Amino acid sequence: MKQQNTGRRTRIVEVARSERLTPTMQRVTLCGEDLADFPAGQESAHIKLLIPQENQSLTAFRDLVESKSKAVARRTYTVRHHRADTNELDVDFVVHDGGGPACSWALAAGPGDFIGVAGPGPKKKPVDNADWYLFGADMAAIPAAAAALEELPDDAVGHAVFEITCDDDIQPVDAPDGIQLHWLVHEDPHTSSEQQLEFFRSIDWPKGTPGIFVAGESGAVSGLRKYLTNERGLDKRAMYISAYWKIGLIEDQHQVQKQAEAA
Ligand SMILES: Cc1cc2nc3c(=O)[nH]c(=O)nc-3n(C[C@H](O)[C@H](O)[C@H](O)COP(=O)(O)OP(=O)(O)OC[C@H]3O[C@@H](n4cnc5c(N)ncnc54)[C@H](O)[C@@H]3O)c2cc1C
Repeated sequence: MKQQNTGRRTRIVEVARSERLTPTMQRVTLCGEDLADFPAGQESAHIKLLIPQENQSLTAFRDLVESKSKAVARRTYTVRHHRADTNELDVDFVVHDGGGPACSWALAAGPGDFIGVAGPGPKKKPVDNADWYLFGADMAAIPAAAAALEELPDDAVGHAVFEITCDDDIQPVDAPDGIQLHWLVHEDPHTSSEQQLEFFRSIDWPKGTPGIFVAGESGAVSGLRKYLTNERGLDKRAMYISAYWKIGLIEDQHQVQKQAEAA
């Protein structure tokens, strides 16, 4: 029998509940029968959210999704938790004032609302068997970084630096005891920040192979990439390093720019 490619079809799922996890993070829990064959263990992987318009009917939305209409806004998010027993996915949305469709949808979402989910894509993680780990993430990348940290071996050592918008954005991350968590406040995410770079420069660099995980705003990630490749001599293929969003660009524009840079 031909195996169904569960990663390619778009699931239409419902909102079970929505809660403000921290001042700048909204957790929306998605549920529904369509998640029954969502692959297990995909925490940290990205998904594409297909976002309905305000007051759109489920039938109208389903028709647009099935016809692969470009009129449906698509945004990239992360599987933070998946509870297969209850068919639930937690997706954590940064609350930002840029007025994007994903953020606006998450803030208004309530039980019974619907959304499309495509994916998951590959899991995000540093190289296996590293001697020590170094993570850098801003708010948009906390879900992926936290999920990856929670899957490190129990004896893992290193540092994880998170850039957050205010002190109350600190959230629980169940990382191994040997990983030191550092929380740096950068109040205005629409201005560029070099705090993570300064942090990377400030630590004693242990011997051995580092397992690097860096994700977040494009400018900050670019500075970290240059530091790690030019000054630390690391091979970019041996790191997970990715720009998740860019100041002043909506996701579609940022994707076009990333593709042009990669070509
Ligand atoms: C692999 C991957 C995984 C991701 N996982 C997550 C996740 O789990 N949670 C999450 O919140 N984001 C995540 N992102 C980032 C998310 O896709 C973008 O932030 C996206 O632009 C949000 O869509 P939007 O509709 O809210 O805003 P858009 O319509 O794309 O943008 C509107 C405006 O808001 C600004 N903006 C966008 N994101 C932010 C932000 N984080 N802070 C401040 N201003 C912003 C834009 O620069 C633009 O000016 C991920 C990205 C990638 C590539």
